[in-house]
Amino acid sequence: MSPSRSQGKLYIVGIGPGGTEHLTKKAESVLHSSEFVIGNGTYLDQMATVIKGAKIIRSGMGGEVERAKKAVELSRDHVVSIVSGGDANVYGMAGLVLEVAQKEGNIDLEIIPGVTAVSAAASLLGAPIVSDFAVISLSDLLTPMEVIERRFKSAAEADFVIAIYNPKSRNRRENFGTAIGIIREYRNDNTPVGIVKSATREGETVIVTTLGKIMEYNDIIDMSTLVLIGNSESRLWNNRIITPRGYQRKYDY
Ligand code: SAH
Repeated sequence: MSPSRSQGKLYIVGIGPGGTEHLTKKAESVLHSSEFVIGNGTYLDQMATVIKGAKIIRSGMGGEVERAKKAVELSRDHVVSIVSGGDANVYGMAGLVLEVAQKEGNIDLEIIPGVTAVSAAASLLGAPIVSDFAVISLSDLLTPMEVIERRFKSAAEADFVIAIYNPKSRNRRENFGTAIGIIREYRNDNTPVGIVKSATREGETVIVTTLGKIMEYNDIIDMSTLVLIGNSESRLWNNRIITPRGYQRKYDY
């Protein structure tokens, strides 16, 4: 056996948007088989019934680097799951854990996909992202605001449906208005907008409105909210949003 031997394994597990019924079977079985489960407190609480057999390591928001290092270190000799809300590839832990693992070398790891917030939110809103859509995070903790603004401008100009992750945090409330201002330069005030808070969790709230009225809801938009802005073809129907895929251009129905 090589000196950097490993009996362990590291799973990076997307646990879905909230309710355990949205956890995939694969994610559930991996969590059941793990000796250690590492994650942020909120996510671990969400999964309490599924991970009760494992040793739990909690870490707070912002402790991501330390958490990733701990997970990689433990996974040399143990089966470890590091959990990420939604999907671990969508502003989740997959990137950081792989970067740390690359430095350490020789880590056996597997990434388990999860239902990301935009899928959960879109389902609650109807069919808003059936066509091309862009996903942009408004968090400027790790990405400079100039870059974020350029992405909003490009996505708005190219008529992508736009999903906004991290619209606000406690210390960062202004970026949202800036992003909406940019989008309004390219899109009509009647453009449908969906605001989904705590999808599949307690307190789930779904609001369907328009771009012209969105700032009326500014106060309820927080760090558990996802905002979806329709494209130029999106329309409202029965408090839902439909973005036509294009069938109407080919078929009569
Ligand atoms: N990896 C996660 C996203 C992490 S970024 C995923 O794939 O979903 C955190 C942001 O995701 C939040 O600020 C919010 O915009 C969005 N989000 C996560 N869960 C959500 C939920 N249940 N309802 C609405 N938005 C959610």
